[in-house]
Parts: sequence; structure tokens; C-alpha cells
Amino acid sequence: MPVLIVIAIYAVRIARAPLDPRLKKRHVGPLSVTTGAVMLYLAWDWLRPEGLSAVYFVGEFAGVLSAYLMSCTLVLATRLMWLEQWFGGLDRMYRQHKRYAVWSILLLTPHLLLHFFSGFDGSQYGYAHRTASVGMGHLLGAVSAIGLLLLVLISLGQVGRILRLPYERWLFLHRLTGLLLLSALLHGWFLDLIINGSTPLLAIYVTMATVGMTAYAYDELVLRHREPRADYTIHRVERPTPDILDLTLTPTGKTALPVTGGQFVYLRVGGWHEHPFSVAGTQADGSVRLTIRALGRGTRGLYTDVSEGHPATLKGPYGMFDHTLGGPRQIWIAGGIGIAPFLGWLTHPGAEPAQTDLFYCAATAEDAPFLSELTAAAAHRPEFRLHPTFSRSHGRLTAERIQAEAGPITPDTHVFLCGPASMIENLTRGLHRQGVPRQHLHAEHFAFR
Ligand SMILES: Cc1cc2nc3c(=O)[nH]c(=O)nc-3n(C[C@H](O)[C@H](O)[C@H](O)COP(=O)(O)OP(=O)(O)OC[C@H]3O[C@@H](n4cnc5c(N)ncnc54)[C@H](O)[C@@H]3O)c2cc1C
Repeated sequence: MPVLIVIAIYAVRIARAPLDPRLKKRHVGPLSVTTGAVMLYLAWDWLRPEGLSAVYFVGEFAGVLSAYLMSCTLVLATRLMWLEQWFGGLDRMYRQHKRYAVWSILLLTPHLLLHFFSGFDGSQYGYAHRTASVGMGHLLGAVSAIGLLLLVLISLGQVGRILRLPYERWLFLHRLTGLLLLSALLHGWFLDLIINGSTPLLAIYVTMATVGMTAYAYDELVLRHREPRADYTIHRVERPTPDILDLTLTPTGKTALPVTGGQFVYLRVGGWHEHPFSVAGTQADGSVRLTIRALGRGTRGLYTDVSEGHPATLKGPYGMFDHTLGGPRQIWIAGGIGIAPFLGWLTHPGAEPAQTDLFYCAATAEDAPFLSELTAAAAHRPEFRLHPTFSRSHGRLTAERIQAEAGPITPDTHVFLCGPASMIENLTRGLHRQGVPRQHLHAEHFAFR
């Protein structure tokens, strides 16, 4: 109960904060998942059958909570557009998806240990008579625990870097999550004395399982065919540096995707696997500009092979990296190709902030191919100030330097960052220390994994 009170106080504080309603809404998803977990605990505590030890109960509930969180990860993997507003965009949904998966795996430790030490044989519940299902239950539990542990491990950044698993192979393995969760859910259904001893708890368990498995089936069978998409033709191809591609795609049919700068789309060209890219510009005829850094095998191949006239498909749009979430004073910080969403905002102005300072960070001027375009934009907009920052000559950008160049950070300042993860992390920490509230720091990460 105290946890529910804490959640309620937090929710009221968010609701009363002087923030854009869209920034408030993004708390609803995580708060709902947390509230669901607490409600699950209360239900299990109130409705559990008599005679089971506290150790057995805690171990069993850890398993149920683990399955609940894993079901939530499957719902978050569905790319359902209406879910984005409750989590703050698809990129944040994927981050939350990863967080729940890690917690789910951590919960398996108390689940396994406490069951091992509870010494409960369940014979008074007829457990010993169901030896075939007991054996099957244990087997399913072992398969799901080992499988899910491995899937979470290969999704962790450091492990991924050591293994160097290609993205497509990782994705293929990752898609087994639903089958492993099914195995975990059946394990609980075969073995769990609490679920089998209480009809309401069994009903809750089945509902939870149905939600998770429906999300998985939707993701595997429906999403692929129903995801919003439109056909385009590559209209303009430029290669301003040896590793940057600047594309304009024009819609082929009558329908173009309703994209705005700063959102992202999935691009597919021919048989090329689809990859997400931020919208770096839009035009009245529905054309979309994408600026792409040749980073790995896929994007390097695209850099060399793509040419004008190639057909392409865009899916989406996704994401809620949007400067209209901020107030009249904004600081934009771009690292390398992280300039893409800011280019998109500049060509799709919407509600323009009164005063914006853009820090465009790159190693040298040669690594900043969009500098002349941004300088031209700054020349026409008195409210827009450009600060090129070259780490080889100026050193890395810091929160102190931002203040020195852009002026004091007022409490209403909103900061938008896009670039390498370490840059986002360091500057977010530094700016928060300088007084920028967390709710005013907005970041777009160019990685889901
Ligand atoms: C929301 C978002 C917006 C992005 N916007 C841009 C942009 O505007 N310009 C730009 O140059 N890059 C952008 N990226 C990064 C871009 O998607 C990756 O650099 C690209 O997919 C790498 O593919 P690769 O095969 O060349 O590299 P690989 O070496 O195969 O992969 C490198 C890393 O890229 C990621 N990645 C690879 N394939 C995919 C995929 N199909 N889906 C998701 N992630 C994948 C993985 O994290 C992988 O570890 C964005 C990423 C995200 C998540």
C-alpha cells in the first residue's frame, strides 16, 4: 500500500508540473506498469491459498513478476503508434522494453533460490501425483530461464560489443522471446501451487499470459503487413563526405507518410534490411530528406550502391523528439550525424522557439558537412545562433562552455541532444548539475540495442 501512495504522489507532482501535456503523458506508461506490478503483489498476497510458507510465496511471486515484466516487454515491442505517447516515443519504449527484460531476468534469481531452499514438496496439494506434468514443468522452466538469460545477455551493450553479433542475427534470436515466455508461462501453470490453488489468481495469470502472447503474435504475424508505409523514389543523392549520404526521397504514389522533422522512419531500399533514420527535412510535396552515416556493413553498402531513381519504402513515422515540447528558450546539441533531427526542425519550423543556440559538434570542420547550410539558416534567423564546436581544436563541449557561449541557463531552458551515447550522458549530467531540470533535458539516441 505505501508503494501505491508513493506512485500517487509522484503522479500528482507530474500532473501539476508546468510542463507540456505531452511530457506529462509519457509518464503514464511506466507508472501503469509499476502500478500493475504492485496490484499483482496485492492480489497474490490477499488471494493466495492457506498453508504455503512465506519463502515459497516470495520465490513464487518473483517468478510471476518476472513473467509479468516479460509480457510487458512484448507489448512494448509491438511498435503500436498509439502507445508511443504514453512512453514518450518508440525509442523510449524500446529502452523501457530493455529495462523490463533485465529486471525480469534478475527476478529469476530469487525465484530459483527461494524455491530451492523452501523445502516445500506440495504433497498435500497432490503435487507428487502429477509427476509427468511436474517433470514437463521443470523442463519448460529450465529452457525458458536459460534462453531468456542468454537473450538478455546478448542484448547488453558490452556483451554485444564483445560478441560482434550482426544486428540481423541478433534480431532473429531476439524474436524467440515470445516462445521462451510461453514456455515460462506453461512452467508456472504446471507447477505453481498458488495459481492452481486460487481461481481468481489463475484468471489473472491467464489474462497476463494472453496479453503477452497476443502482443507477440501481433508483432510476428500482423505488424509486418499492417505497419504504415509508403513508396518513394530516391530523387537526390549526395555524398558530402566519404562516409555521409544525403538523400531526398519523393513519394511515388498518392500517399506520403505524415512525417515531421525530428521523427524517424524505417528505410528500405530494394532487398536492403530496413534501418531507422531521423527525418532531416520535409517538403510540401511530401519529399523526405535523410542524412545517413555509413557506419556498419548495411549503411556502407547503401552509401556505395544507392543512386537516383531507386525505389524505396518508408515505414512510420515514429518518435517524439520534438522541439515544440520545449519553451521559448532552447539549446540544441548535435554530435556528428546527430545533426539530422535538427536539420529536420529547421526546414519544418512549426512553433519556432524564441531563442535557440545550436551547438554542432564534430572532430573538425571537414567532419561537419552541414555547416554551410546551418550558417545560411542562422544568417536569416536572428533568433537562431549557431556554435560550431570542433573537438580537435576546441576540446570537447562541456556544460560550462555551453553557458559561456549561450549565456546563463534560465529555469525555463529546454535542452535537446542527439549524438553519441557518451556525449549525451556527459552533457545531460553536466547540464543537470548546472540547474537544468531532468524534465527539460530531451535526448534522441541513435541506437535501440
Ligand atoms: C531512432 C533512430 C534514429 C536514427 N537516425 C539516424 C540518422 O538520421 N542518421 C544515421 O546515420 N543514423 C541514424 N540512426 C542509426 C542507424 O539506424 C544505424 O547506424 C544503422 O542502422 C546501422 O546499420 P549498419 O548495418 O550500417 O550497421 P551495423 O554495424 O549492422 O549496426 C550498427 C548498430 O546500428 C544499429 N542497427 C543496425 N541495424 C538496425 C536496424 N535495422 N534497426 C535498428 N537499429 C539498427 C544497432 O544498434 C547496431 O548495433 C538512427 C537510429 C535510431 C535508433
